[in-house]
Amino acid sequence: MEGKGMVDFDAIRAEFPILDQSVYGHPLVYLDSAATAQKPQCVIDAEADFYRHDNAAVHRGAHELAARSTVAFERARASMARLVGACADEGGEEIVVTGGATAGLNLLATAFGNASLGRGGSAAARFALHPGDEIVVSKAEHHSVLLPFQELAARTGATLKWLDLDEEGRIRSDMADEVITERTRVVAVTHVANVTGAITNLAPIVRRAHAVGALVVLDACQSVPHLKVDVHALDVDFAVWSAHKMYGPTGVGFLYGRRELLEALPPANFGGSMVELAWMDRPAQYMAPPAKFEAGTQPVAQVVAAGAAAEWMMAIGMDAIATHEHEVAAELLKLGDVDGVSILGPCENRDRIGTVAFDVDGVHPHDVGQFIDAQGIAIRVGHHCAQPVHRHFGVYASNRASSGVYNSVADAQALVEAVSKVRAFFR
Ligand code: PLP
Repeated sequence: MEGKGMVDFDAIRAEFPILDQSVYGHPLVYLDSAATAQKPQCVIDAEADFYRHDNAAVHRGAHELAARSTVAFERARASMARLVGACADEGGEEIVVTGGATAGLNLLATAFGNASLGRGGSAAARFALHPGDEIVVSKAEHHSVLLPFQELAARTGATLKWLDLDEEGRIRSDMADEVITERTRVVAVTHVANVTGAITNLAPIVRRAHAVGALVVLDACQSVPHLKVDVHALDVDFAVWSAHKMYGPTGVGFLYGRRELLEALPPANFGGSMVELAWMDRPAQYMAPPAKFEAGTQPVAQVVAAGAAAEWMMAIGMDAIATHEHEVAAELLKLGDVDGVSILGPCENRDRIGTVAFDVDGVHPHDVGQFIDAQGIAIRVGHHCAQPVHRHFGVYASNRASSGVYNSVADAQALVEAVSKVRAFFR
C-alpha cells in the first residue's frame, strides 16, 4: 500500500458530509458514483476557500488576487498531471482544462475536423481525416465518445468502425489487428466501461493503432477515480476525464495530450485568453498549449477544487483505493446469485471495477430503482448513455450499482439483500 499506509475507510467515509443522512428512514447508501461521486469536505472547502480569499480571473490582471488565483489554478493543473502520470513540470502543459469529459471529446473531434479543413497548416496534417479514412471506437463506448466521433466521420467522409464485445461485454481487443487498418487515423476507446465495469485490455489496441500511425484517444472517466492511471505508461496520445466522478466539482474536466501533439493540434474554441496576437485583417496567432485550448474565463474555483480532489486521492493512495473497491465489487457481484438476476458484464472479480449493471427478470429497471430507493439505496437505472452495449445484451435498459471509495462491503450487502426482495414485491 502507498499513501497513508493502512487506510481507515470508515474514517474516509466520515469525510463526506452528504453521506451522513437518512433517506426514507434508512441511512443513505450511495451506489451511483459512476454517474457522479460525492465530495469530501476538503474539496468543498477548497472551492469555498477560493471564493472566500482568492477569487480572480487567472493569467491576467496585475493585482494580488489575480496572482494568487493563477498560482492556485496552475498548481491544481500540476496535481492533476501527477495523478495521471502526465508531465507536471511548468504547470503541466500536457493537461488542458475542459468543461468535462464530453467537452474534452468534442474539443478533440472539432480540432481533428479543423485539421481536416486544412487549419493548423502542415503540422496539423497528422490529425486530418479524408474520405476513405477510418475512425475506430468500440461498442462499449459512452455516447460521449461515440457521437463526437460519429459526427467527425460524417463531416470528413471517414468511415466509423468498431471493436465488438464478447459474451461478458468485454471489448474484443483480439479484433484490433483486423479492425484497425492502414486507413485508421483515430482509435477512441474507453479504459473502463461505464456499464459493464470491465477494464479494457488496451495494450493490443494501442500497439496496433500506433503500428498503423493512428492516434489513440482514451476515455478515462471511469478509470481515473478507481485505478492508478499512467497515461505515459499506457502510451495513449490523448485522454479525457471528468472531475465530478473523481470526488471533484461538476462543470470541469481535463484533457491529456502528448505535448508535441498539443503543439501541433489546431484549437477548437476561440476567444479570449488563447491568443497571442489578434488583428482585424490577419489571422490570429495563438498561444502555446494548454492556453491555446482554453478560450474564455476558466472555471478557476472548480479547477482548484479538482486539484484538491486529486491530492486527496493521491494521499490515500490509488492502490489502496483500488484494493478497497475490489472488496466491495466482490460483494456487489453476489447480485448474480440472486434468483432472476443477471449481470451485464464480467461476473468474475477480475479486470473489472465495482460498477455492476444488472437485469431483474420481469421487472423494469425504473421499478427496481424505486423499490431500492425506498430503502435508502441510490443506484442508477436506464441506458447509462450507452445504448449499443445494452443492445448487445438484448435489453433496452438496466440497473447499475457503482462503488466509490466511501462504500463498504456492508453497503453492497444491503443492496444485494434489497434486490433479492424485488421480484417477490412485484409478483
Ligand atoms: N465516458 C464515460 C465512460 C462516462 O461514464 C461518462 C459519464 O457518465 C462520460 C464519458 C461523460 O462524462 P461527462 O458527462 O462528465 O462529460
